[in-house]
Amino acid sequence: MYMSTDEIRRAFLAFFESKGHQVVESSSLVPANDPTLLFTNAGMNQFKDTFLGLEKRNYTRATTAQRCVRAGGKHNDLENVGFTARHHTFFEMLGNFSFGDYFKQDAIKFAWEFLTVTLKLPQDRLLVTVYETDDEAFEIWNKDVGVPADRIVRIGDKKGGKPFESDNFWQMGDTGPCGPCTEIFYDHGEHIWGGRPGTPEEDGDRFIEIWNNVFMQFNRQADGTMEPLPKPSVDTGMGIERISAIMQGVHSNYEIDIFQTLIKEAAAVIGHDDLGNQSLRVVADHIRSCAFLIADGVMPSNEGRGYVLRRIIRRAVRHGNKLGAKGAFFYKLVGPLAEIMGTAGEELKKQQEMVEKVLKIEEDNFGRTLDRGMAILAEALDNLDGKVLDGETVFKLYDTYGFPADLTNDVARERGFSIDEEGFNDAMEAQRQRARDAGQFGVDYNDAIKVDADTEFCGYDATEGQATVVALYRE
Ligand code: ATP
Ligand code: MG
Ligand code: MG
Ligand code: MG
Repeated sequence: MYMSTDEIRRAFLAFFESKGHQVVESSSLVPANDPTLLFTNAGMNQFKDTFLGLEKRNYTRATTAQRCVRAGGKHNDLENVGFTARHHTFFEMLGNFSFGDYFKQDAIKFAWEFLTVTLKLPQDRLLVTVYETDDEAFEIWNKDVGVPADRIVRIGDKKGGKPFESDNFWQMGDTGPCGPCTEIFYDHGEHIWGGRPGTPEEDGDRFIEIWNNVFMQFNRQADGTMEPLPKPSVDTGMGIERISAIMQGVHSNYEIDIFQTLIKEAAAVIGHDDLGNQSLRVVADHIRSCAFLIADGVMPSNEGRGYVLRRIIRRAVRHGNKLGAKGAFFYKLVGPLAEIMGTAGEELKKQQEMVEKVLKIEEDNFGRTLDRGMAILAEALDNLDGKVLDGETVFKLYDTYGFPADLTNDVARERGFSIDEEGFNDAMEAQRQRARDAGQFGVDYNDAIKVDADTEFCGYDATEGQATVVALYRE
């Protein structure tokens, strides 16, 4: 049964609404009042205080389609993009939540009913995992739902890890609400490499995790102790792109409706015609995180959230450049993106012009140093002894050509090399020290980006013997 991503989003929310859940809007990608979190990385983030019993709401069941970014912080999938069938920097998480209302039994039954009755997925393609010691969840799956015992996998703590460090023990960050979980996997078939969860080949893309049901029972303290929550609760998350792939009869998330459109648009604006190219996937992925982050108020800068955004933009620009893009192309994908995102794209549509301007300025600026930086990097890699690019070169590319270290690493990885991150950090620290000694301070040019102004780039101003580099913009 084919369903578009937009139809799946609507069907999910309607299903849980029919089970007494309040439909709640997605929150911003910038977490409200939560300095422990870089970006919203799960549907439960906006309900954190409700789980902790600090905030009361006038409902005890909720459902959302939450926009999420996992690029930096505890959950970071940036390096997976382009390499797995299932990871994005930006994705939407469908979720249902119980705040001290129902617990394991209903959560499991709801999930199963949605998948096998509403979406009509074949049961013999599904596989579930539970936390090693969670006999209760095992029994519900086996006895109440009827999943054969050989399709229920117990997952324990990671070897050499601390207690409660398991794929089946979910935590938002180092502190906060957490608990054992049960996950549902879909078997895409023998022809795809990968093993069942719990086997050494589990990272392959044959068995793809689609839905995580977390049984929130504890609040993890900074010292690692687990305090029981006032009322056991439920938090679930299903990546819409992964379930969409199943409903559209394809294996990779990058083959679903949204991505096919974006990949075609990206190919057109770049002027490249091999639609299967990995760099096109990266560009299609990155436009989503960048556009939605900017729409949610993050601006490119040299630190914090803004620097993560800048890094993603520059990676995308570099991939476009690799495919032969002439001039700025990335910002042209904002319109098609807002269009294809259905109800999730409405806010982006309103802000389209602003988002395009911010992206274009970033692209134009980086475009000026990209070619020279790439030439220097190519030469360094050509002449490399061994497999690791030295930290000084990585730093020079960062400092003079605006290459974030992870971008340099991305290029190096394509040629089978890696970078000396520690050496890069040392070089960076040495520069800071020199700047401190000279009584200077770094300038964050975030403030200098005025979207409406005509901006002229004046180059990265690097002075001999004085490593403080400032990108100057003049109006
Ligand atoms: P994986 O093991 O595949 O990396 P995860 O265990 O890290 O996924 P969870 O933290 O359990 O994921 O998040 C809940 C759900 O959100 C997942 O089951 C998956 O459907 C979806 N999801 C998680 N990370 C991503 C991502 N980077 N891109 C797309 N969907 C994702
Ligand atoms: Mg993950
Ligand atoms: Mg997982
Ligand atoms: Mg998971």
